[in-house]
Amino acid sequence: MTISNDRAFNEGTFSEGNPAESGPDASRVSSMNTLEQIAHLVRNCTDCPLSGGRNNAVPGEGNSQAEVMFIGEAPGFHEDREGRPFVGPAGKLLDGLLGSIGTNREDVFIANMVKCRPPDNRDPAPAEMAACTKYLDRQIELVNPKLIVTLGRFAFGRYFPGEGITKARGQLKEKDGRKIFPVLHPAAVLRREELRPTMMEDFKAISEILEGKIEDAGMEPGVTAPAAPQPAQFSFMDAPGQAAVSTAPAETSSVNVEDAPQPEQLTLF
Ligand code: URA
Ligand code: SF4
Repeated sequence: MTISNDRAFNEGTFSEGNPAESGPDASRVSSMNTLEQIAHLVRNCTDCPLSGGRNNAVPGEGNSQAEVMFIGEAPGFHEDREGRPFVGPAGKLLDGLLGSIGTNREDVFIANMVKCRPPDNRDPAPAEMAACTKYLDRQIELVNPKLIVTLGRFAFGRYFPGEGITKARGQLKEKDGRKIFPVLHPAAVLRREELRPTMMEDFKAISEILEGKIEDAGMEPGVTAPAAPQPAQFSFMDAPGQAAVSTAPAETSSVNVEDAPQPEQLTLF
């Protein structure tokens, strides 16, 4: 997999050049032969200022041979406390969405753009993402998923910088030989209940992509696949405080998520 385009996105690195090829990081990066080794390096990493504020780094976790890998933004309060990705309210929603398509977090791999919590859950800075990308790059290489699902605008921006997530979500894309399926961030769905049916549709499309029902990059799943009936009842049983999933039709065209600040963690925790 080529990562040159990803690097173009990551302006403002802390050090010159590609750390995988030269420099003081070279030996560390070349020792990333297993997911466990990556996790160990992440937990001891001080390559960007986020290391100073963390309680626990959050390397990511899941099935080392997962067919699908989910990429979020950054650890929040709960993730920083536990050292695990998506364990707060957004994670509960993600669990419910995975369950709705017959899978679970043990079957997939879940990681984030940056592995340490930004202070006050602010957006990760370009330089922080640049410093951290070597870990995610290698996790993707090792897991080698059939499909990468980006959660929210930062993970989408890794592959398609400058494109808006609101427009792109739900459309299977391809980049550097990998299938990329952008969806909204679960925390955005918690903030805006009206986005929930859209998110559920997009998750249904994930299972259809994995079943080979949606092949071509760039196609709208809704066009190629038979219309998905909305489940009549769908409640995230283990998500306390969340209402049953609404079956109201999605009105996403007028909702501009990407321009909204990302207050998800701020408002949630
Ligand atoms: N939001 C994210 O983007 N990642 C997490 O791990 C938790 C919340
Ligand atoms: Fe290292 Fe990434 Fe944590 Fe920064 S965010 S200290 S690069 S693991």
